[in-house]
Amino acid sequence: MFVSENLTVNEKNHLAIGGCDTVELAKEFATPLYVIDEDLFRKNCRVYKDAIDKYYDGNGLVLYANKALCTMYTCKLAMEEGLGADVVSGGELYTAIKAGFPMDKIYFHGNNKTDEELEMAVSNGVGHIIVDNMYELTRLNDIAKSHGVVQNIMFRIKPGVDAHTHSFIQTGQIDSKFGVALENGEAFEIYKAAHEMSNVNPDGLHCHIGSQIFDVEPFVKAAEIMMNFAGDLKDKLGLAIKKLNLGGGYGIRYTENDDPVPYDEYIKHVSDIVKDTAKKRGLNVPMILMEPGRSISAPAGITLYTVGGIKDIKNVRKYVSVDGGMGDNPRYILYESEYSAVVANKAGDEKTDKVTVAGKCCESGDLLLKDAMLQPAESGDILAVLATGAYNYSMASNYNRIPRPAIVAVSGGNAKVIVKRETYEDIIKNDVL
Ligand SMILES: *Cc1c(COP(=O)(O)O)cnc(C)c1O
Repeated sequence: MFVSENLTVNEKNHLAIGGCDTVELAKEFATPLYVIDEDLFRKNCRVYKDAIDKYYDGNGLVLYANKALCTMYTCKLAMEEGLGADVVSGGELYTAIKAGFPMDKIYFHGNNKTDEELEMAVSNGVGHIIVDNMYELTRLNDIAKSHGVVQNIMFRIKPGVDAHTHSFIQTGQIDSKFGVALENGEAFEIYKAAHEMSNVNPDGLHCHIGSQIFDVEPFVKAAEIMMNFAGDLKDKLGLAIKKLNLGGGYGIRYTENDDPVPYDEYIKHVSDIVKDTAKKRGLNVPMILMEPGRSISAPAGITLYTVGGIKDIKNVRKYVSVDGGMGDNPRYILYESEYSAVVANKAGDEKTDKVTVAGKCCESGDLLLKDAMLQPAESGDILAVLATGAYNYSMASNYNRIPRPAIVAVSGGNAKVIVKRETYEDIIKNDVL
């Protein structure tokens, strides 16, 4: 009935998540409110972990891609489920460190890491740094030398595959700001250069072809290309890679029209090609890493809003305005992304109304859903937008000086605040004059 498996309708005809009535959550914690179903987040972690056990005999590690939703609490959940962490900035690294994440399981990404971030990573003993380019490699070698350590690294490789997704979230092709390309020999050169440096230890390759991908084929293609590149490194330089990190990007269900392949199936197909290519090229199967973000946190999250003014412009469009918008969910304004929503206090009723849900920011593009079907909404109703657990809070801003919502985690009928709602005091706290 709903795009996410964890949502139900209770005896009051209200939407429920993690055993909690969403209308009660809205009352208790106010709106807008992010709600995360802790059990589904954990379950999604396990799907990947189990697949590693099943298809790679446990020789792998799942890294939770923190950029999807990074808080101390979600770090702790991922850690408790035995996952590693993919971080892409000093801020995400800081959050993981403060959450007590084991450093050897942290992988630090980013196409333009600053000296300060590299210093922070090296001095804290980050397990791996995924090096993006030659400039970064030379600086990192110097920084590691100054700390008297040899830093484990991997390289971000552009495998040159088309991921069939929105161009803003395609990252595997040569025309991308991320990583080094295979086609022009860049990838080969950087691996060779690193091998000759004193304070870095290149032990693996990484690729990430994009996000919200529904096809198996680009993942399989990318894995094959990466394994063949590993074969070339062995043949030409005599170097064996130990780790292969295949990134994230698995698509999820935002609307009824989305039909993702079960994640286990992706991993099966990818493992087949990894093993086949290893055999063909005379390589050992490397330790496999993957980095799901969206597919772990998005389905576990919903956002609750209170419906305000409603404008039914005859023969034009019906606007339903809510007390949040692009500040807490910028995905429509960024990608015209689609969502499904439910009037939480009428959750079991039929969706008979075609409406456009608008935010409260001063931008006409500040929408959450356009021309979507919804139960007839009235001012004061609670609206739940579904599958907002990824790239919502993590992309939130204070545009229009609107404080960011709180996040509550729900499980077994209990709800607790894991991130406090911002206050107006928070809004001005860095204004010094
Ligand atoms: C964004 C990103 C991910 C996570 O992608 P999802 O689509 O959220 O699974 C993983 N690895 C890297 C390097 C990324 O940039």
